[in-house]
Amino acid sequence: MSNPILETRGLTKVYNMEQENEFEALRGIDFKAEEGEFICVMGPSGSGKTTFINNISTLDFPTRGKVFIDGAEIRSMTDNEIGRFRSRTLGFVFQEFNLLNTHTLYENIAMPLALARTKKAEVDERVRAMAGQMDIEGILNKYPGECSGGQRQRAAICRALIMRPKIIIADEPTGNLDRANSSEFLAMIDRLNKEQRVTVIMVTHDPLTASYSSRLVYIKDGVIETSIERNQMSQKEYFEKITEINASESRGFLR
Ligand code: ADP
Repeated sequence: MSNPILETRGLTKVYNMEQENEFEALRGIDFKAEEGEFICVMGPSGSGKTTFINNISTLDFPTRGKVFIDGAEIRSMTDNEIGRFRSRTLGFVFQEFNLLNTHTLYENIAMPLALARTKKAEVDERVRAMAGQMDIEGILNKYPGECSGGQRQRAAICRALIMRPKIIIADEPTGNLDRANSSEFLAMIDRLNKEQRVTVIMVTHDPLTASYSSRLVYIKDGVIETSIERNQMSQKEYFEKITEINASESRGFLR
């Protein structure tokens, strides 16, 4: 078997170390993602999902344990190396889109390429090709404030993918989208995953969104409580299983 594209060993995150309110948000997570997997992360609010995502995407660092991305142990790299590595290997899609409002969609999408000192002609070609795939080539001169939520999300996806990352990391990416835009987004992620074998790791609260994945990882109280592979299940069967896991969690709060 090939090496995992992403792995954590004993990933532990303690907030407010050695203070009265010290809190262990992740408690020794061992996790592996193989190249081409589409993994959804679910779990109750406060269970550690965002902390996990931040730690596997170099936005934050573990208190104890190790994170390996594409064969590299993150802590062994310098800040510069991490920055370069992050922009080349990882594509981020967040709920808030994180577009710069003072820049046009074109400038937002081109930014990672510009930072990597790509030649202007190549930047132009890649931005337009990517925007074409996302159906926003006609509005590249608009500012985010002039666009709909769906258009902004598509621009954010273009920016996340412009460096052709091996891994897409998404935290509640469809949280601000209506059903039509979120299914379009999922269809696109699904296509990238299947056709280009891009690995996807996505946090969501929505069982329908999660039913597109190939594996569900359920985090509770800072540990992986359950993991389910879709395998031969139909999307409907898988969806029902995911719904059941989430419901059994909620049932614990019924009186
Ligand atoms: P989730 O994404 O599942 O809602 P988080 O990873 O955001 O969970 O948070 C996990 C736990 O860690 C929560 O109890 C939260 O209050 C705590 N936490 C998150 N970030 C911080 C921080 N910067 N400082 C202190 N505690 C934090």
